[in-house]
Amino acid sequence: ADVMVGGGEETNINVVVRCRGRSQREVKENSTVVVNADGVKGQVIELSMGANALSNKTYSFDRVFSPAADQSMVFDDVVKPILEEMLAGYNCTIFAYGQTGTGKTYTMSGDMSNTLGMLSDEAGIIPRVLQQLFDKLENENTDNCVKCSFIELYNEELRDLLSTDESAKLKIYDDASRRGHATTLVQGMEEKHIKTAAEGIKVLQEGSLKRQVAATKCNDLSSRSHTVFTITAYVKSSNDQGVEELVSAGKLNLVDLAGSENIQRSGAENKRATEAGLINKSLLTLGRVINALVDHSPHIPYRESKLTRLLQDSLGGRTKTCIIATISPSKSNLEETISTLEYAFRAK
Ligand code: ADP
Ligand code: MG
Repeated sequence: ADVMVGGGEETNINVVVRCRGRSQREVKENSTVVVNADGVKGQVIELSMGANALSNKTYSFDRVFSPAADQSMVFDDVVKPILEEMLAGYNCTIFAYGQTGTGKTYTMSGDMSNTLGMLSDEAGIIPRVLQQLFDKLENENTDNCVKCSFIELYNEELRDLLSTDESAKLKIYDDASRRGHATTLVQGMEEKHIKTAAEGIKVLQEGSLKRQVAATKCNDLSSRSHTVFTITAYVKSSNDQGVEELVSAGKLNLVDLAGSENIQRSGAENKRATEAGLINKSLLTLGRVINALVDHSPHIPYRESKLTRLLQDSLGGRTKTCIIATISPSKSNLEETISTLEYAFRAK
């Protein structure tokens, strides 16, 4: 069998895989399960490639979640440590990467209901982060300020999901005020000040609804666009003299990426292909940026796409990044699954 094991070199990039169960359609089509994980949460994933086990392909990752892993396991395992980093003042990013229909949105947002302050068992990462963040801030009884923003990137254009002006397009420009830390600002972006988890979840619900409404008018929007939900926490605490000082300002970007199948569809010459080509730009550049970071390359091509410009201050250096690659277990999706695992594997 062809076994691939990633290099042991320390990076701040964590790569995990989540395999969902078969969809109703996959069950109806009798598509064979070709993905095997070692337990509910192990580190190895095996693909059945052909007639016998000798042709199987095995990959190892920082974590592999089988279909039996639920939302709370993913949160406890990969998100909690990142939330700690964010509260310590670091910029962090969690990406969901994978073929359309494999569970990116389920993993990032999931069930967003919040009845009487109770999250659903199917709540995804963003509602759980909001709840845990405010639980912690209340317990620590510190003075704090939390803000969030929610934007969509489609065709290399940014749209504010929190703005009441539907057509407003956002512009990214370089922030010259922070010398030595090249970073960007988004002109005109709404930043909502939230005081409770419930307020943050409401922001998420409203922005997601806007995205859905737009998606019904524009075919493929939801598979071809990226969304970035960003939480910034400014946490103040007093020193020995009781004088208040700013201790940390950490940021957490929660990114639901465009379907990775678009990465391959750049050959054709019609308008749809051009759109796909533009999406390729952000997805492909993200891959290049991550590879350059993993290789400790002197040049990181942040500037080559909107997504990587947007996330420039949260990728590399003293930041923490987690990529959650989502896959289908079925034979009918094997080709896309291999391409997702190869992309994720190169990020290790
Ligand atoms: P994507 O955002 O990658 O296109 P979705 O998150 O919309 O995919 O998932 C497609 C469907 O599969 C949804 O109905 C979703 O609820 C379901 N699904 C995805 N992953 C899981 C999972 N791990 N457990 C249960 N249902 C899942
Ligand atoms: Mg989705």
